[in-house]
Amino acid sequence: MASDDRCDSLFVCTLCGDCCKGFGGTYLSETDIVAIANHIGISPERVRAECTASSGQHRVIAQQQNGYCVFWDRVCTIHPVKPRMCRRWPFIPGVLVDVANWHAMAASCPGMQTEISDGRIIECVRRAMEKESSGDGTAS
Ligand code: SF4
Ligand code: SF4
Repeated sequence: MASDDRCDSLFVCTLCGDCCKGFGGTYLSETDIVAIANHIGISPERVRAECTASSGQHRVIAQQQNGYCVFWDRVCTIHPVKPRMCRRWPFIPGVLVDVANWHAMAASCPGMQTEISDGRIIECVRRAMEKESSGDGTAS
């Protein structure tokens, strides 16, 4: 079994911000909205009105005119409370469904390694997801 150290090298964010641009449909739960509101010091109602958009029955993060997430300002300004979809990246269930998704995602994320066996990618993604669901996940 690979150690966590070996999995760590699978993804090292370069902070390029590419994944924070474009309509990604990043869902926000009510818990996320309250956590973000507390973090930036405004009311949850203001976060909802000014920082989110609707997508069907869900709230998603709104975009700035330049296409970036409203919380992007050369870095993620809500890093400690960023929503689950952002925290998880790139260790997402879709990679376990088809490891080809890892390679497709890596084409637009320079922090993801691809010179690694698919078996190891799958194992590391599974481990990261288990860690997260046990409440031991760390924000990337
Ligand atoms: S997750 Fe990937 S695309 Fe996003 S900032 Fe990090 S390296 Fe760039
Ligand atoms: S919340 Fe942060 S990490 Fe997520 S898209 Fe916005 S700026 Fe990027």
